[in-house]
Amino acid sequence: ERVGFAIVGLGRLSLEELLPAFAECKQARPVALVSGTPDKLKAVGAQYGIKPEALYSYADFDRIAENPEVKVVYIVLPNGLHHEYVLRAARAGKHVLCEKPMANTSAEAREMVAACRDARVKLMIAYRCQYEPYNRRATALLRDGGLGAARFMEASNTQVQGEVPQWRFSKALAGGGALPDIGLYCLNAARFYSGEEPVEVFARIHNTPDDPRYREVEESIAFMLRFPSGLMANCAASYGAHESKDMRVRLEKGWIDVENAFAYQGQSMRVATRDGKAEAIRELRLGQKNQFAAEIDHMAQCVLQDRVPRTPGEEGLQDQVIMEALYRSAETGAAVALPAVEGRDTTR
Ligand code: NAD
Repeated sequence: ERVGFAIVGLGRLSLEELLPAFAECKQARPVALVSGTPDKLKAVGAQYGIKPEALYSYADFDRIAENPEVKVVYIVLPNGLHHEYVLRAARAGKHVLCEKPMANTSAEAREMVAACRDARVKLMIAYRCQYEPYNRRATALLRDGGLGAARFMEASNTQVQGEVPQWRFSKALAGGGALPDIGLYCLNAARFYSGEEPVEVFARIHNTPDDPRYREVEESIAFMLRFPSGLMANCAASYGAHESKDMRVRLEKGWIDVENAFAYQGQSMRVATRDGKAEAIRELRLGQKNQFAAEIDHMAQCVLQDRVPRTPGEEGLQDQVIMEALYRSAETGAAVALPAVEGRDTTR
């Protein structure tokens, strides 16, 4: 029996990645759609074999409570709407999978965690890279200790973002610019690769002067994270630089480079170690797997087996807290200290 998902928001991610990915899922299927555009709702519903009575508008959304086929609601709306829809889904008694970034602020994220806890529903944040094989292998390699202590990470996520108008340039709808949209991948990877939480952060922001896209949100951000072990991560995210989505780890006895670590596909990985006097560089091939399908199936399994997701609401909340510290650092020009927090076991 497959777990039924309702997809809320039929934008690019839903149409181009998530709905097609269900074909590769083993334990999940789409059973309901929510959209503000009736024609699109009908056409997409027909394409994926959704029952006409399971097509909802945003105004209708709360009626999803009466649909027993829907076990999980997947929120794929602009960031600024995640809070409202996660609360409404929890009130309808449904488990929730929410796109990244979790919310606009840590205060919203805290309310989302509390609402799902009180409603006794699961909350998972869609950190797809934590379900992607190359990122998982790199994490395991780092954590098994064979390459010694990790000293540095370099993570970048850059792309050229297009023109106005779009919700990504609105502070109210996006919460911020390159940081929450794509820099978040660098931040989250530094945390889940290392299993540590940063104790100090530093950031700088640059916006091209007079560019209408960057009146409300940032174009480019460079930031540094310092972890308790001494590990330091240098991260860069921009809407104004050619696409690069790589993760590099420098350890005592080797290095790990994951190319396209944060991309939808095209990952590759090289690991260097010292082999006697010679440097040995191995290219690891793991085969491509649809990471969206892996992420959706994980949520389905958590529902079937009553388990806590690998990337629960608390994981999203912690990133929101750190992103706020990064903005504070960029504003003040000073490093910002964070309270020591126990890292999570992201290898399970
Ligand atoms: P999009 O603009 O393509 O789609 C957003 C949808 O929300 C549209 O269909 C739009 O009509 C609808 N919408 C409803 N109310 C709206 C409002 N008030 N204003 C604007 N649009 C409204 O965006 P997207 O790229 O599909 O992103 C959706 C979410 O998914 C975002 O949170 C984004 O960060 C996330 N995302 C995640 C990944 C990933 O790899 N995990 C990739 C892309 C986007």
